[in-house]
Amino acid sequence: MSENVLKGSNKQHNLNNYEETYQNFSWDEAKQNFTWHETGKVNIAYEAVDRHAENPDKKDQVALQYVSPDRKESLTFDQLKKQSNQFANVLKDQGIEKGDRVFLFMPRSPEFYASFLGVLKVGAIAGPLFEAFMEQAVQDRLEDSEAVMLITTPELLSRVPEDQLPDLKKVVLVGDSTDIPDGYIDYHQEMAQASESFDLEWVDLEDGMVIHYTSGSTGKPKGVYHVHNAMIQHYQTGKWVLDLQENDVYWCTADPGWVTGTSYGIFAPWLNGVTNVVVGGRFSPEAWYGTIDDYQISVWYSAPTAFRKLMSSGKEIVDDFKLDSVRHILSVGEPLNPEVIHWGKKAFNLRIHDTWWMTETGAQLICNYPTMDIRPGSMGKPIPGVTAAIVDDQGEELPPNQMGNLAIKAGWPAQMRAIWKRPEKFESYFLNGWYVSGDSAYQDEDGYFWFQGRLDDVINTSGERVGPFEVESKLIEHEAVAEAGVIGKPDPERGEIIKAFVALNDGYEESEDLLEEIRQFVKKGFAAHAAPREIEVTHAIPKTRSGKIMRRLLKSRELGLPEGDTSTLEE
Ligand code: ATP
Ligand code: MG
Repeated sequence: MSENVLKGSNKQHNLNNYEETYQNFSWDEAKQNFTWHETGKVNIAYEAVDRHAENPDKKDQVALQYVSPDRKESLTFDQLKKQSNQFANVLKDQGIEKGDRVFLFMPRSPEFYASFLGVLKVGAIAGPLFEAFMEQAVQDRLEDSEAVMLITTPELLSRVPEDQLPDLKKVVLVGDSTDIPDGYIDYHQEMAQASESFDLEWVDLEDGMVIHYTSGSTGKPKGVYHVHNAMIQHYQTGKWVLDLQENDVYWCTADPGWVTGTSYGIFAPWLNGVTNVVVGGRFSPEAWYGTIDDYQISVWYSAPTAFRKLMSSGKEIVDDFKLDSVRHILSVGEPLNPEVIHWGKKAFNLRIHDTWWMTETGAQLICNYPTMDIRPGSMGKPIPGVTAAIVDDQGEELPPNQMGNLAIKAGWPAQMRAIWKRPEKFESYFLNGWYVSGDSAYQDEDGYFWFQGRLDDVINTSGERVGPFEVESKLIEHEAVAEAGVIGKPDPERGEIIKAFVALNDGYEESEDLLEEIRQFVKKGFAAHAAPREIEVTHAIPKTRSGKIMRRLLKSRELGLPEGDTSTLEE
């Protein structure tokens, strides 16, 4: 859509020559970076933390820097090893065994990270849940996964319907001892008595590690099952895509309740031995820029929704902070609008690198790399070791520039191994040796992939196929538009018409003239057939808590249909 190209860096990076590496790389090479390659003993928690704690040069390096408005705390690799060992001992005492599902339902905190690692150390499967889930969402996920233990806080306990959860045997509460009722396990009390050494449970690469529930953008969230083998790709993409170097201070803004917050908020940075900043509390431009400034963040991974909010808050505020520690910025979760990339270049003098992947894929798959030219609006090219293509409904590859199913050759290291207890659902992703993503895209002649929308979201208007993303991207280029969500609305004549929902920037009032101006802006600046016939101003675009526009909800509300599962809807 955009002719502009942002040139790749010619400095030294971990991935210096994408094309050459793409031709020659095999995953066997990556395996040599793990101790299990020599010892045969596997556990991702060992590779991410204990290995560094055993290295005299690294043990006192800060692994976790936790920052929230009322608490700041750092843990070195050595301290994190000890605390997670303590929690592993607590789990063992409570009878938790390999393969058990242990869920965590709590805000980001040092305790979250120590206990998450502890769960992995006993060989159990960790299930992180976003703290804002309400009772039904918590119940659905604990029931579906047959979790036997939950780690939560006294404040959140009222949202855990224990009497509805026969499998749930034990609840650990992280809080003041005075707030812990009888019958519950007191985290701090148990930790104080637990030994700091623990004999790790060695597992197989194919043993269970994490269950993540998807964002629920398209329907009821699915329980996606990942195994320890994923570490190979977490590590390697941490190198190539995050471009992590020994001295980086890294900040991933995602909550660990979503896959980005574990694959790239826990595993990738720690497997690479990098200091990981975790921020609690609410979003505000001041707080975010302040975090970068205070902690000298060098690599920053966030999401389009956050970048759009920062963009709306203007450039002046950027200048109030010292942000020159940042050298690499990345985005995931939704398509990254070209407008946002251009703003990023102006605001930070850096490119924002889009990365595409899904809960099911476990790790990044199609990305932009520091040394590669960026074509704004494109999600980039597959990581070395991965084959991507656009296929039709029979799983046959389509030629360049044709819109179709974005598919990945099955068998990459971090690929999900199951949809929990739903084998038929799992099977339904695969066709002809391809994993079919459910996203629609095309590939240009030079191999760049261009996201168009969810397959279900692609609009068919007067015989033209229009992806909502490009229309939304054009809409937000208009100075009055802060956010946009675009759907197809059934129409007897045209099949569907394009309807846009827009939230206006501060200082703009809704008027017929303004809406017509916005319509003309898309018509002239993008394409006549893609200009929305209807534009409705709304206060806010419905989003998942992981920050994705919920087009299905815009559509069902528009058509007066049932809303479906809204457990992940952001209030
Ligand atoms: P559900 O599967 O429950 O409907 P979801 O698909 O939103 O929810 P996630 O696994 O969190 O759950 O999100 C993956 C989806 O997010 C992708 O399929 C894609 O539609 C979108 N996505 C992620 N990254 C990008 C990106 N860089 N560009 C475009 N879309 C992206
Ligand atoms: Mg999905």
